[in-house]
Amino acid sequence: MSYGVRKEFYNSKAWKSVRKNVWLKQNLLCNRCHKPVYVDGISEWIPKEKRRRGIVHHKKYLDNNNVYDDNVSLNEDNLEGLCKECHEKEHHQDIATKKEYKFDDEGNLIPRV
Ligand SMILES: [Zn+2]
Ligand SMILES: [Zn+2]
Repeated sequence: MSYGVRKEFYNSKAWKSVRKNVWLKQNLLCNRCHKPVYVDGISEWIPKEKRRRGIVHHKKYLDNNNVYDDNVSLNEDNLEGLCKECHEKEHHQDIATKKEYKFDDEGNLIPRV
């Protein structure tokens, strides 16, 4: 998987606006544990020590083939706002079945070489 293509997508205006919609619809709460998340520019009111990073997750995972397919990458039905912890859990489950990735010592997802 080429990281460059996805990085470009995550920097796009279209993605940033869809991502914001998802959070506003969820009232800035994680869709699974319902704790408030911190989203740049919209949840400055959350005290610093209580901020947990929010990540908008693609239920159908993004890859090089679907990243420019708006029905997948920008479709709100395919998106779920999660806190960092719930997002990691989600991907841990995926890791157990697919063997292409692993976690490094800091918990970052990296390709298994
Ligand atoms: Zn959560
Ligand atoms: Zn994800």
